[in-house]
Amino acid sequence: MNLGKILTLLFLPVLLSAQPDRWQQGGKYEMEIDFDVKTHQFTGKQKFTYTNNSPDELNKVFYHLYLNAFQPNSMMDARNQWLSDSDGRVNDRISKLSEDEIGFTKVKSLSMNGKPVQFEHAETILEVTLNEPIAPNSQAVFEMEFHSQVPIQIRRNGRDNSEGISYSMAQWYPKMCEYDYQGWHANPYVGREFYGIYGEFDVKITIDKDYIIGGTGYLQNPEKIGFGYTKKQKGKRTRKKTRTWHFIAPNVHDFAWGADPDYHHDKLVRKDGTVLHFFYQRGDETNDNWEKLPEVMDAAFDYINENFGEYPYKQYSFIQGGDGGMEYPMATLITGHRRFGSLVGVSVHELMHSWYQGVLGTNEALYAWMDEGFTSWTSTEIMNHLKSKGFLKGEFSDQPHAGTYTGYRNYFKSGKAEPMSTHADHFSTNYAYWLTAYTGGQTFLEQLQYIIGEEAHNRLMLRYYNDWKFKHPNPNDFIRIAEYESGMELDWYLEYFINSTKIVDYGIKNLEKDGKRTTITLERNGEFPMPIDLEVTLSNGKKMNYTIPLGLMRGEKSSENGVNYIKAKDWYWTHTTYDLSVEGDVESVQIDPTGRLADLNLENNSKGFKEGKEIKD
Ligand SMILES: [Zn+2]
Repeated sequence: MNLGKILTLLFLPVLLSAQPDRWQQGGKYEMEIDFDVKTHQFTGKQKFTYTNNSPDELNKVFYHLYLNAFQPNSMMDARNQWLSDSDGRVNDRISKLSEDEIGFTKVKSLSMNGKPVQFEHAETILEVTLNEPIAPNSQAVFEMEFHSQVPIQIRRNGRDNSEGISYSMAQWYPKMCEYDYQGWHANPYVGREFYGIYGEFDVKITIDKDYIIGGTGYLQNPEKIGFGYTKKQKGKRTRKKTRTWHFIAPNVHDFAWGADPDYHHDKLVRKDGTVLHFFYQRGDETNDNWEKLPEVMDAAFDYINENFGEYPYKQYSFIQGGDGGMEYPMATLITGHRRFGSLVGVSVHELMHSWYQGVLGTNEALYAWMDEGFTSWTSTEIMNHLKSKGFLKGEFSDQPHAGTYTGYRNYFKSGKAEPMSTHADHFSTNYAYWLTAYTGGQTFLEQLQYIIGEEAHNRLMLRYYNDWKFKHPNPNDFIRIAEYESGMELDWYLEYFINSTKIVDYGIKNLEKDGKRTTITLERNGEFPMPIDLEVTLSNGKKMNYTIPLGLMRGEKSSENGVNYIKAKDWYWTHTTYDLSVEGDVESVQIDPTGRLADLNLENNSKGFKEGKEIKD
């Protein structure tokens, strides 16, 4: 073999495959929780078997102690007092909590491999100094005892939420912080995003026998606790005051649950065997809508599995609780007193998080847009599909993301835009966070579809999920898949969109007729360069669809949805104007006829002639 052949063989797998080989930490939680519904306190025993797959020796570890955020003068409290647009659910409420209303987790003891280790409570982070380092590619067993109090419901977790659900148990147990190729991620809890280790959860919760629990994980002992029967049907009353619910969840990065004595439980078994659980309090504000919810979520599941990848667990639970909607592996806590469209909307959104938060497990603190934005984009697609099938009121739309673009434009016009690469905890306003994470991420994806075309985009969404599931992908990993599926170079798009606040603004500067030809002069007014789709309409009604590639792309889409594009010459990003010469009697030209370019100023995007005179519309 000559050198060329050897090099070809060496590089071939790299060129053909985006299969990731990045290391990641692993763990197994075994917890026994003893819950007292009178004091709203619980004690816990936690055994955490930690697998250090990193090439590094670890001398310290860190745990999240989320419940400590709900105490006067906590970081979450302080931040919400100076934020100009503080979350209405928080505001100054934490500062006013009394001793029996606060949340806390106090670690009583902690050992590693049987020997006590030093630890210090730093509010929502437990800092642990190890006696001996954990070697690369080895395991360590941590055993902990802790004592916690559930705060009154303020943000995400707590007791007695606004709809009277007793316990919304999210971010409730000591959770090992994630360590990855970027090092430790011991983010204090200020109310934002999450990141965790994939592993197994084996959780036993002992609680008053009248309470029903729904949550992450498969219930191991339904017969023993008599679950599945209402209190009246049960007949025989056990003399024990408590019962122990035993759950196991494989390959998840978090565990959440809700508990209430009045939970009604419905169940739908999908044709592929996946079981959908619904836990809610019966009442005028829930009955009708929650009874209709299962068949709609069944249809949503069909669409999601087909278009965005197969759901890998056998169960998902929709649980009334929390303070809006929040996603957890295999479950969501959502408020339940809603109009039907809103109930479906929040259910679809939180369910879709199972793909981008639950299964892909991106570091949401760093890349919230990859979770919230992708979830928002797919949710919009699903809602549009549900409308087309008659599950929801409203018409199917050719551009269901139009409202998102409007929000995105207004955000940039507000002067409050911050780079999407900002850490989720550190935005100056909630507005900027919401508009980058949700609206920005959704716009990023829809505009990427404009660049690479719908077919490549569809393949991208499926392959991204299949290649990266359970592996914590980052932005570069995503854009690489987009490059593989489109054959284009796309790093410039990621750079401009995520790391800058530069804007897209193209316009039609001039139309000039010269005999049978028309010269169309386009101008780039914003600094963010993009390819341009241009629809040219001739006086005889004929439409021509040009695509003007950006030179940096090293490629272009050729067709999509039955439209064959005429490829124009490349537009180099350094050039502020561009001429396109078209044969025929041009009547009008339109930039971006499909409405997928996040162009900030739409006023200059079309131009035409009427009776020989130039008009602007
Ligand atoms: Zn979300």
